[in-house]
Amino acid sequence: MRTFFFSVIAMSFAASIMAEEEKTASAGRVSPQIGETTSEISPKNIEATIRKLVSFGTRHTLSDATSETRGIGAARRWIQSEFERYSKESEGTLEVTMDEFTQPPGERNPESVQVVNVIATLPGSQPESRDRMYVVSGHYDSRITDPMNATADAPGANDDASGVAAVMEMARVMSKWKWDATLVFMAVAGEEQGLFGSTHWAQMAKENGFNVAGMITNDIIGSSHTDDGRLDNKHVRLFAEGVPPVREVSDELRSMLQTGGENDSSARQLARFIKITAEKAVPGMTVNIIYRRDRYLRGGDHSPFLDAGFPAVRMTEPHEDFRHQHQDVRTENGVKFGDLPEFCDFEYVAQVARVNAAALGALALAPATPKEVKVETKELTNDTTLTWRANDEPDLAGYRVLWRETTADLWEQSVYARNVTRFTVQKISKDNYLFGVCAVDREGNVSPAVYPAPTR
Ligand SMILES: [Zn+2]
Repeated sequence: MRTFFFSVIAMSFAASIMAEEEKTASAGRVSPQIGETTSEISPKNIEATIRKLVSFGTRHTLSDATSETRGIGAARRWIQSEFERYSKESEGTLEVTMDEFTQPPGERNPESVQVVNVIATLPGSQPESRDRMYVVSGHYDSRITDPMNATADAPGANDDASGVAAVMEMARVMSKWKWDATLVFMAVAGEEQGLFGSTHWAQMAKENGFNVAGMITNDIIGSSHTDDGRLDNKHVRLFAEGVPPVREVSDELRSMLQTGGENDSSARQLARFIKITAEKAVPGMTVNIIYRRDRYLRGGDHSPFLDAGFPAVRMTEPHEDFRHQHQDVRTENGVKFGDLPEFCDFEYVAQVARVNAAALGALALAPATPKEVKVETKELTNDTTLTWRANDEPDLAGYRVLWRETTADLWEQSVYARNVTRFTVQKISKDNYLFGVCAVDREGNVSPAVYPAPTR
């Protein structure tokens, strides 16, 4: 009898471990909630938003802010009203705010100017995760050839009504669901005059100690054609910085460089996470990670976030046609110049929005990245022992240890470490591989990985 009970208990215990193992073994599967979300993203809504933003004539940061029909003021009030409409549809879960400030005179604004970011925040549903936020942005200001021309038509359909439309559609769709962590949907201004809006928000977040665990800017995601007319609607570029271009190297960064971790910055870990998650969730789309902060001669709203110490990346179409960006609207020798809706592919923008939503959803469902991740270097051994601080989410299942060749771009091997804070990978030497640790919840949602610092 006793033996029987013992074996039943042992069996059910083993079964529950196996069930947990199975889920965490399938870690990285697409959550059904993410599938529903991406399928609801509508190219029609995205097209309507881009055309509406273009209809304001110009959205130049120095343009008329008082008219109800033309200029940046009319544009932002419309974005605000749309966010408020989504909020009503989601029974008020989406919080709409105007982040308004005065930008003092500078190189591209001879007089001080009011800059307004339109923000919709979807607070996380898990108390332990609510302070962890993921930001997704597009910039609603626009420009033509002369960056100071605030009156001529500056349609900015691709740059960057496409990014704003993607962010707005994500806010509409994602606000119908619950996510553990907080999502911040942002339409910023002043990008073309010097990244004013994003700089203001990122600095404020840094000063207030906000836990911005990831940021994606969507800037120029509208066209699926090369400048010689070929179609490419299956790729998106993801610009991800490795080592930040700082004047003074912090101890943390120095330790990373000393151990060959230059490809394992938090931005690169975020990029790997986005690529793996989004490609699984959006069949047919390939995320091309580019090991670079941004393109030459260009900047974007992820930069102030990187400078503030947050992991941030940039999404941009695979090939740019410079006749359709920052150009006066005109025809020269039969060639049409200007950033017009006719050069946008709304289905393609929807695909990029789905890539974003899949990644953001997976991040916001997953536990936080483990903290204080260390690799023990007390003695010479060919095993690898990692330690970390325990996460505090109630639905945490455990941790997964990952590794790859030092020359590999993506994780190659992993082992589930259960709910422990110290784990040894036998016979795999830290001298020969790059390691990472991520947290896994009971549903199989996985955090991005963290590179370990050496400890004696
Ligand atoms: Zn732009």
